[in-house]
Amino acid sequence: MNLTYLDNNATTRPAPEVVEAMLPFLKEEFGNPSSAHALGQRAWFHVQEARRRVASCLGANPAEILFTSGGTESDNLAIRGMLGACPQKRHIVTTSIEHEAVFRLLQQLQEDGYEITFLGVGERGQIDLAELSDAIREDTALVSIMLANNETGILFPLDRIGAICRSRDVALHTDAVQAIGKASIDLHRLPVDLLSLSAHKFHGPKGVGALYVRPPLRLAPQMIGGLQEEGRRGGTENVAGIVGLGAATLLVERSGAAAHCHMRSLRDELERRLGDVAPDATVIGADAPRLPNTSMILLPGVSTEEVLMAFNEQGVCASGGSACHSGSLKPSRVLTAMGLDGHSASAAVRISFSRYSTDDDVDRLLEALRDIVRKHRSVPAAAR
Ligand code: PLP
Repeated sequence: MNLTYLDNNATTRPAPEVVEAMLPFLKEEFGNPSSAHALGQRAWFHVQEARRRVASCLGANPAEILFTSGGTESDNLAIRGMLGACPQKRHIVTTSIEHEAVFRLLQQLQEDGYEITFLGVGERGQIDLAELSDAIREDTALVSIMLANNETGILFPLDRIGAICRSRDVALHTDAVQAIGKASIDLHRLPVDLLSLSAHKFHGPKGVGALYVRPPLRLAPQMIGGLQEEGRRGGTENVAGIVGLGAATLLVERSGAAAHCHMRSLRDELERRLGDVAPDATVIGADAPRLPNTSMILLPGVSTEEVLMAFNEQGVCASGGSACHSGSLKPSRVLTAMGLDGHSASAAVRISFSRYSTDDDVDRLLEALRDIVRKHRSVPAAAR
């Protein structure tokens, strides 16, 4: 069965260019970048080349890029590293709709005695900027607010948030894991101090990411070992992964804008035709600033589980939001934070496109949805 893969906020297909670039480093170019011999030095050179590519894609300097094992580690390093660097400051401001990599870490830190302000969001998924400003205190170590939400694709106005943080002299971290490859980012202009990214969300390999750190910030290292990454993160570099990340960012830099347009046109086509197959369906945050690839759809009366099972039978891969990966289809924390009741939030399906998605994918998805809605109408709830 042909797969209709529309779960690109979960992960993306590695680009052929990425796989090609990585292969030598899984075969003959296996050197350790810390070794002084030629094999090691070639590996070192390619790690630095990847660093230049990531920096160039973001509008940063290579020295400001630190390689990690992915988005989760970058988020942990940004937050724990800031707290470690200024131990007298024990307060952090964030939102109630961050990804688990930030949200659960901050809950944990709260249990450990730190003070965390979780800002609520309105029904369009936005925080109140006056509330953010009021929340910042003398002892605030960091503001951590994501660039784009992984479930809804809704974007936070990081330029305005950054301006508030600058005016209050507080560092700003943003989890940009969902934004790279789907939104333009220029750190020359965007006033953020720390930015997390993860290669597998934009056609790179899994298990590798980066953290941008704006000078003169210095984080307390969290992975103590050798002096790799200038002493900022110990551990032998994942050379093949880092080279893959570099190749994936090159793809974003070269053809990111065209990919955004392509994804937006597929997403808009889906949302335009959605009413024909599912008249009651609504799109979360339809009128909010959103990533061009994400559509979080509410199908009243049908559960996420029913939809995903029916999709699966037809070879359509989508997702119900972040709570699904644990196997428990609890109503999404993000949607309930946006004011949806548990029942409505349990009828949400996330469709996320990539640069490789096609018109055919939209047709197959709508066909599968039409089937589900038709069956649903003909079978009484008690019999399902
Ligand atoms: N942050 C966001 C917004 C994400 O969507 C994800 C992954 O889904 C992560 C962080 C974690 O990234 P990784 O899978 O690379 O650890």
